[in-house]
Amino acid sequence: MAQSFKALVEKLAPPPGGADFTALAALLGAPDPAPQGRQAPRRRRHLALVPKLRDVDLEERFAGLTYSFEPTVSTPAVDPLTYDHVIVAFSGGKDSMALVLLLLLLGVPRERIELWHHEVDGNEGSTLMDWPCTLGLRIFRSWKINGFEGEMLKNNVPTTGYLFEVPGGGVESAGGEGKPGFRLQFPQKAASLVTRWCSAYLKIMVMDAAIRNQGRFEGARTLVLTGERYDESPNRQTYDVFEPHRADLRDGRVPRLIDHWRPIHRWPEAEVWKLIERFRINPHPAYWLGWGRVSCAPCIFGSPDQWASLREVNPRQFNAVADYERQFGKTIDRHLSVHEMADKGTPFPSMDPRHVQAALSRVFTEPVFLDAWRLPRGALLGDTTGPT
Ligand code: SF4
Repeated sequence: MAQSFKALVEKLAPPPGGADFTALAALLGAPDPAPQGRQAPRRRRHLALVPKLRDVDLEERFAGLTYSFEPTVSTPAVDPLTYDHVIVAFSGGKDSMALVLLLLLLGVPRERIELWHHEVDGNEGSTLMDWPCTLGLRIFRSWKINGFEGEMLKNNVPTTGYLFEVPGGGVESAGGEGKPGFRLQFPQKAASLVTRWCSAYLKIMVMDAAIRNQGRFEGARTLVLTGERYDESPNRQTYDVFEPHRADLRDGRVPRLIDHWRPIHRWPEAEVWKLIERFRINPHPAYWLGWGRVSCAPCIFGSPDQWASLREVNPRQFNAVADYERQFGKTIDRHLSVHEMADKGTPFPSMDPRHVQAALSRVFTEPVFLDAWRLPRGALLGDTTGPT
């Protein structure tokens, strides 16, 4: 069993003379026994961290928390401090939040960390899929033009291109050429990213385009962190903890080294919440309402209770999805419409109007830190149905 983050933090805390990093390496990368009834990952490799001798002061609110890391020998290694760019795929959910906090604990300078948020709805006016609220953090947004809705309504036209924010405040573009194609249906509820096209077209390919089309990544070392975890689905159990990213071109004429690290792949959900509690971060409002995972509000994998809850808190968004099901003559689920799914479910109990308002607001005005931190309702025993 992985040890608790609290125990880990105690091990990392000086004195005397820095910390043994083995504990963190074990938690992040060493194979643990597979949970009962689950298949072990097919591909797995041992990872360790190469710590640096450094003191990291977490200033401002975290003044007084200091961690010392000392060098040890380990191969192969993931040392985020050796990268020129450190990119976190940041959804606002707990797992991507944990990635940011972990980087801070590892002493990665804040100015080197980039949060990349893929706007599933694009930025052209569609509000079909995303939670409306944001987290008030500095991030680089990127999106497929016209987003989920535009791709779903593709009718004998090429798929749209990508736009991505870049340092200095600009927005650059890529892609958009190609053969005409059709969709006129929702993505399928499948592990395959071909039929479940939303994840590929609205997230994975958006990041690929944003990396491949920025010269600043050429001749540099870049680390991309994503927050998939073993416990989330059998499909995710097969993911590597560390591998070259899809946009890697380290052997190219103009080399571009991009590594992909999933540092919390082996973490159970409780470890993620412990880290968030450690920093007293206010979780995304959807967790307070009862969702156990934060992805698209009307995720195609939604459970009956999630559909019932969304119908209650955001009927406009729910009805927009239901209208498209009628228009296409095809439901997201093979057997049930979203209305029938919601009828089978029960809204999460006692959803606080304040959290509803926070989730639906396009400007996040809730506190970022909570002095009296507690687990949100959706944590641990919440409804974690979501992308596979
Ligand atoms: S969260 Fe659900 S609907 Fe949104 S992109 Fe992922 S799988 Fe598709």
